Amino acid sequence: MIEGYSFTMERVPDNYCVDDPEIKEVQDMDSGAILTVQDVIGADKDRLIRLRMNLAEAGEEREDKYTCPICGVGVYLVCRRRGDEKRFYFRHRVEIGNCPAVTREPLSKEEIEARKYNGAKESRAHIRMKEILAESISRDPDFSDLQIEKVWKGMERATWRKPDVSAVWRNKIRVAFEVQLSTTFLHVIAQRRVFYRNQGGLLCWVFKTFDIEAARMTQEDIFHNNNRNLFLASEKTLRASKECGALMLDCRWAEPKAGSEAVSWGWNGRLAAFSEMTLDQNGQRVFLWLYSH
Ligand SMILES: [Zn+2]
Repeated sequence: MIEGYSFTMERVPDNYCVDDPEIKEVQDMDSGAILTVQDVIGADKDRLIRLRMNLAEAGEEREDKYTCPICGVGVYLVCRRRGDEKRFYFRHRVEIGNCPAVTREPLSKEEIEARKYNGAKESRAHIRMKEILAESISRDPDFSDLQIEKVWKGMERATWRKPDVSAVWRNKIRVAFEVQLSTTFLHVIAQRRVFYRNQGGLLCWVFKTFDIEAARMTQEDIFHNNNRNLFLASEKTLRASKECGALMLDCRWAEPKAGSEAVSWGWNGRLAAFSEMTLDQNGQRVFLWLYSH
């Protein structure tokens, strides 16, 4: 364990559902069963955050797993934060206006978030992070065809992506590196995962800082969907990349503390070369350390 990086996960509530959900039941579109939202949301946070991603991805693919049984509109999971406490509830993907369970404000939060995201992409810190990644990758002979902010064309023009940096790994797969500095809405993360999965590419998120205390939702959404692994890039990883002649990243992961229930976790981490990592194209995961239940 890293000195000073030990912590205990927040107290686990009986259920992560908010106390007063507008949508009280959802319909499972695989089985047809109508389930209470408390049953679906449950008390297992890791499972819940992965479910949240699955539902966001399903929305991108227009194949809803859960719908509102009253109006038939697809639903997704939203996080409500009060202080340190996070609770979840379901919201309609679109508000048609005929459902008693009205959950959505007319103002588009997605639009605001998209603007925030584009704004953050032009920040100095973001530009430096791109440079660090590009220079690190250029030192690694296993990577070829390095591209910076080049459009990656998909089937539909509307879905084209412009990854911060991308390069081909061992002549096999193009890896898109996306720097994550600020808030990215879940649907943005889900869109990207679906896009790169369908394009045969692999997405690797890279952070600038490791935010243990805040554990912002974005970082959690990526973390829990990436085998509890996170990657950081910095001036330090750039120096290591130059010394090693390979892309080096600062890897962090959470593992259960020895002899304890899975409630108590500790952070661990080290510098690692990209070649040490497991690449999972279908799961859109890149990880060094594998947690198995
Ligand atoms: Zn409804």
